[in-house]
Amino acid sequence: MIESKLVASTWGNVSAKVDNDNLIVITPSGVDYKNLTFNELPVIDMDGKKIYGKYEPSSEKLLHLALLKNRKDIHGVMHTHSIYASAFSVIREAIPPIIEDMVQIAGGEIPVAPYHLPGTPELGNDVLRVMQDKYGALMANHGFVGVGRTVHEAFKVCLVVEKAAQIHFIAKAIGTPNILSEEDVSIMRKGYLESYSKHDMEGAG
Ligand SMILES: [Zn+2]
Repeated sequence: MIESKLVASTWGNVSAKVDNDNLIVITPSGVDYKNLTFNELPVIDMDGKKIYGKYEPSSEKLLHLALLKNRKDIHGVMHTHSIYASAFSVIREAIPPIIEDMVQIAGGEIPVAPYHLPGTPELGNDVLRVMQDKYGALMANHGFVGVGRTVHEAFKVCLVVEKAAQIHFIAKAIGTPNILSEEDVSIMRKGYLESYSKHDMEGAG
């Protein structure tokens, strides 16, 4: 996440369901990720109570909990402050479905959740609401959150959405971006979920 420049310093955070989906392992608050070891990662229950770990869970734990608790289809969440996706979050406009990989992996147009202060329950609830059954949503004037059937897939969502936001910016500078049709989007998304991704899921935890 850091090497791909999706976040700076300790901003941005990651979580995953563990223990038959009864517990969540999540990155800690305010600790340099480069020095973090496996055993230091906080583990919380589905109510957000810390069960294990040296450090306190991320200050965005309510965002992660809202998604992991209510979306039975996902097991990983990644929240980033990547530049181009954040630019869309600042103008509070959805990222349109313009490129195949983001449509397949993230599920189509990327909606924007209204602004709420970080760490509030309202933020998590609104992200969950606007995301519907997709794998990503923008958070107004803040950043992006990607989800997936694995943490690895949530990371992939963050990468392809950031790339789509960047492509949109460049395309607009040289012409008028064309938007993929709703029908094509749903065919590609279905295809990805049903077959293409299966190989990817193997061994991904
Ligand atoms: Zn943030």
